Amino acid sequence: MRFLALGLSLAVACTLSAAQKPLEIYFIDVEGGQATLFVTPSGQSLLIDTGWSGNQFRDANRIAAAARNARVKKIDYVIVTHYHEDHVGGVPQLVEKIPVGTFVDHGDNIETGKAATRLSEGYRKGLATAQRLTVKPGDKLPIKGLDVTIVSANGVVIANPLPGAGAANAFCDSAQPKEVDTTENARSVGSYIQFGRFRTVDLGDLTWNKEKELACPANKLGTVDLLIVGHHGSDLSSNPVLVKALSPRVAIMDNGQKKGGSPSTVDTIRGVAGLEDLWQLHFADEGGKEHNAPDAFIANITEADTGYYLKVTANEDGSFSVFNQRNKQTKSYAAK
Ligand SMILES: [Zn+2]
Ligand SMILES: [Zn+2]
Repeated sequence: MRFLALGLSLAVACTLSAAQKPLEIYFIDVEGGQATLFVTPSGQSLLIDTGWSGNQFRDANRIAAAARNARVKKIDYVIVTHYHEDHVGGVPQLVEKIPVGTFVDHGDNIETGKAATRLSEGYRKGLATAQRLTVKPGDKLPIKGLDVTIVSANGVVIANPLPGAGAANAFCDSAQPKEVDTTENARSVGSYIQFGRFRTVDLGDLTWNKEKELACPANKLGTVDLLIVGHHGSDLSSNPVLVKALSPRVAIMDNGQKKGGSPSTVDTIRGVAGLEDLWQLHFADEGGKEHNAPDAFIANITEADTGYYLKVTANEDGSFSVFNQRNKQTKSYAAK
């Protein structure tokens, strides 16, 4: 009888843990590019961008290693936010290392010239191995257990606020425009991602004036728990009218040592009321000690190509934690 009771309680425990399994998000270090891997409790996966080309498969190997860590053998969806080297460059190498189900993009590359043509050709190699899905604002990605809404694509942002969002944004009065951006950055595919009560947003390299369109006069996105800092923390993005309206508890910046991590962006993020921590993939040389997070919150702090990742583990109740692979430390953030 005692054995039967033990067996029953184990069965109950297993059922509970399956239902309560977390979402995992790997912030893979691709040295100033982007590669962010989401893995749902049922094992579905979404990769946002593929890092750089070249470097003897460095970025593809790091993505494949994170996928192995997450027990994923195939990447179901890869969002190519836009056609720049540090986002789409890694596609041909990635598909050699791990199969991809569907590539998601905003349509064809609008940039021309030698480099753009090479990137488009590399992307076509990837597309030859997978499905292609071209998205527009308001579309959803059919990923089980994850609510992914496209909020920007090809230079257009959602026309209407997301459910529950749309409050007037008091920060709009102080908005300062920047020069109109005619590059691929302004066409980035942006995603608002929900897992139960946990919410995060990724806007690729979406630039300043487009960020404002998402935030003014009404805040179309609402708030998030985790902000994936846009454009590697470059000062061409992270318009304060959006960053303040999003009001993140935690921000993670996928900067490189010499790319992104602008001091003014760090100041904008630190200026968010209610921000608990800023985490970074690299110490950013541009900012010096005073414009970088404390070392414990940085995955790669030396010049050596260490390639450590940050990993977020998020629960449906909105609680989450951040793990730094370098020092093996984890910080938890309770549900609010
Ligand atoms: Zn970029
Ligand atoms: Zn870019």
